[in-house]
Amino acid sequence: MDELEEALYALGHAMSVLYVDGATAAPKESWKGRGKTLAYLSELEYRKMVSDEVGEVLHTLLETKNPLDSKVRRRAELLKESYDDMHIMPMDEYVAFQELLNEADAVWHEAKEKSDYALFAPILEKLIDYEKRFATRKNPDKAPYDVLLDSYEKGASMASLDPFFKVIREDLSPLIARIAGMQGPDDSFLRQPFPIEKQRLLSHRVMEMEGINFERCTLGETEHPFTDGMNKWDCRITTHYHEDDVMSNLFSVIHEGGHALYDMGSEDDLEFTCLAGGVSMGVHESQSRFYENLICRSEAFCKALLPEMRKIFPEQMKNVTPEMFYRAINTAKPSLIRTEADELTYPIHVMIRYEIEKKIFAGEVTVKDLPALWNKMYKDYLGVDVPDDRHGILQDSHWSGASFGYFPSYALGSAYGVQMLQQMKKDLDVDAIAAAGDLRPITAWLHERIHRFGSLKRAEEVLADAMGGPLDPKAYTGYLIEKFTRLYVL
Ligand code: ZN
Repeated sequence: MDELEEALYALGHAMSVLYVDGATAAPKESWKGRGKTLAYLSELEYRKMVSDEVGEVLHTLLETKNPLDSKVRRRAELLKESYDDMHIMPMDEYVAFQELLNEADAVWHEAKEKSDYALFAPILEKLIDYEKRFATRKNPDKAPYDVLLDSYEKGASMASLDPFFKVIREDLSPLIARIAGMQGPDDSFLRQPFPIEKQRLLSHRVMEMEGINFERCTLGETEHPFTDGMNKWDCRITTHYHEDDVMSNLFSVIHEGGHALYDMGSEDDLEFTCLAGGVSMGVHESQSRFYENLICRSEAFCKALLPEMRKIFPEQMKNVTPEMFYRAINTAKPSLIRTEADELTYPIHVMIRYEIEKKIFAGEVTVKDLPALWNKMYKDYLGVDVPDDRHGILQDSHWSGASFGYFPSYALGSAYGVQMLQQMKKDLDVDAIAAAGDLRPITAWLHERIHRFGSLKRAEEVLADAMGGPLDPKAYTGYLIEKFTRLYVL
């Protein structure tokens, strides 16, 4: 098992470096050459993983009557899952799919730039076909979308997520509609030009406040912000700068910083095994959205963040009070772009994607008809008109990476975070820590209960401990209703 994990780590590391290089420094057309290398590396990965010998060793380990060390058992379980996922696809098909993903990423970038969905549609169709084949082979008795949901969040299914999103829709929609009809706070000071050179200083400062070690984590710039935790000593996060929207970058950096802290937080002895790094995408998103919203969009943290912004942008922030700042960064307004949405409308963006993905995998909508469906749902649920595909269906990178079933993790993670905050408040004076601007005690709490375990504990165990009980969507909507009712003095 050691040798297999070492090989898988090395190959995964090499592929990550290629991916990050492609997204940050490499020239546009480099994808053509990168595809060859990725195909070769993924073939090696497949050959290492899918062999009779590996299958037998894992089977024997998991079936043995002798009690296994818990770490060995968990490694065997996770490797068996990866083995099962890979071996159901023939090698040629698996390798061709890795090449397709590489091409899809380049095509999506171009299509988004040109706001041209027709350019992306044929490759999207191929990605969906592959995922349908994969899901059906993995479990022919289950709905394909349930198979995909389960791969991002163990146990998640349409049966568990439908009621979750129902609570969100029913509890939040009336409040969103009410606030949409009101005069929002004045956030015009945030729409002035904020030179990108100076925004870079601010990025560095908030990473420092989160307690990120710069010897282990760097910040790059990409179309869509992401985190690639290669190992605990090498984590790459990225952001996207907009001169006329300073908070967009700020929240991206804080969000990706939360992912990075999780990836860099595994205990040393888990590194280079399949136990390193986050246990599920929902838990991962709980960490990133914890810092982004529960801390950085809090009234307390504004007291720390505003002086920092004043130092870097004295002109732009000169007449701004903490109260004005808090209201402005929490302006709730139905909008087009998920990653820039406020906390209140955000889960509706996620729900729309979830409903669309359900229809895709139930065969209820064709690829050609997706933009019209997307635009209709934005109108129905958020009341906004989508002007073009760039601000609509092409905005997210997930589908170009065939990450169907990933989106619900964002809403689940947000909900997990609220219950974690309730637990954290029993141990820490979270507001006082946030107001002081040094978030390391918060990071330490999360490290103790979540980060250090990597994937050693199952997601449900980590969550039960950190949240003090099972997921309760009412805790999430209750937090949002309370916060926004107060903000809008309803
Ligand atoms: Zn994230």
